[in-house]
Amino acid sequence: MLNLTTIRLTIMINKLFFTFLLLMFARGSLAGSETVSGIGEYDDNNTFAKILQGKLPANIVFENEYVLAFEDIHPIKPVHVLIIPKGQYRSLIDFSSTASDQEIIAIVKSMGKIAKAMGLTKDGFSLMTNSGHNGGQTVAHLHFHLLGGEPVHWEKALREKNN
Ligand code: AMP
Repeated sequence: MLNLTTIRLTIMINKLFFTFLLLMFARGSLAGSETVSGIGEYDDNNTFAKILQGKLPANIVFENEYVLAFEDIHPIKPVHVLIIPKGQYRSLIDFSSTASDQEIIAIVKSMGKIAKAMGLTKDGFSLMTNSGHNGGQTVAHLHFHLLGGEPVHWEKALREKNN
């Protein structure tokens, strides 16, 4: 026959087990719903991870040890290149806090090289990154949009839209 201590112990173990299950579930759903913010786990099934793994095609315009740049699949300007780190970073948040100095230097240096290679240095360009929900980030791997070939003026367009 079960004594009181055994019953209490069983109840405690059950409680711990359900708490564990709850935590695992919460962790899973957070990772799933926070796919594009700068927090949580990196999901190596995102589109750019697949491009890096060679599972998806891309029109590559630049590559080195730390950086890959390729044409955006839905360009919004005559030149629309995406510049990404090869390391697993969801957004500028984790890249700026956890990437190595080499990775940070490499991506910044590559930006100038790519702008030059794409013929954008004379007339200029816009370089931007979207981060998380309010930034409108849709792919959870840090990327910078390099836009040019005609005036970009997105800030002016937004101001006009708001007035
Ligand atoms: P963002 O909205 O800032 O996260 O930008 C994501 C960008 O990725 C968009 O401009 C998309 O057009 C682009 N994109 C999505 N899938 C691909 C792909 N397979 N190859 C190239 N660009 C892509």
